[in-house]
Formats: sequence, structure tokens, C-alpha cells
Amino acid sequence: MESNIEKAVGQAQRAIEDIKILEHKVAHLTGICQVFYDMLKETKGFSDEELMARVSEKMNLDPVSGEETVNMCDACNRPLGKRNKKCLYCGKLQPIRSVFDQM
Ligand SMILES: [Zn+2]
Repeated sequence: MESNIEKAVGQAQRAIEDIKILEHKVAHLTGICQVFYDMLKETKGFSDEELMARVSEKMNLDPVSGEETVNMCDACNRPLGKRNKKCLYCGKLQPIRSVFDQM
């Protein structure tokens, strides 16, 4: 019979394997993004500064400090959780701004 320690070790080993798979996928997707960005620079004249500005805006990063900013509820003006679809304070359902908000 498998002990709790053996179960925990098995779960930890599976988690480590899952992390390795995810790291590989992230590295692969990062490479694809770099290829797309190089294509945009070459064909459309995009600049690194424009990319950084758009990434900062999309990722809610302060353009000066690079630190993450917090969205505020447009109903009660309190901070919103990153993954919450509703305001924790007033319950207002937050608008979907892009298809990525639904992920
Ligand atoms: Zn609110």
C-alpha cells in the first residue's frame, strides 16, 4: 500500500514533469513571437519602442517603472483583481475588452 509520503513524492514528480513541458511550450511560443515581431519590423517598420509601449499598455505596466498597475472598477473605483470578472466590492461585471479577457 502506497503511503502518503510516496503519494506526495509521485505528485511532486508529475508536477515537475508538467513544469518542464510548460517551460518548453513557453520557450517555443516565445520563439514564434520573436519571429512574428521580426517580420513586422522588416515588413511594416515597427520599432522596439512602439512594441514596448504597446506591451506596457496591454500588460498594465507603468511605462516608466515597468511595474504592474492595477485596473480600477468603473462603478466604485476600487482595485480589480486580475482574473476576476466581477468587482469584489460592488459586484459589477467588468466589460470584456478583448477576446483575451475571456481566457
Ligand atoms: Zn466595483
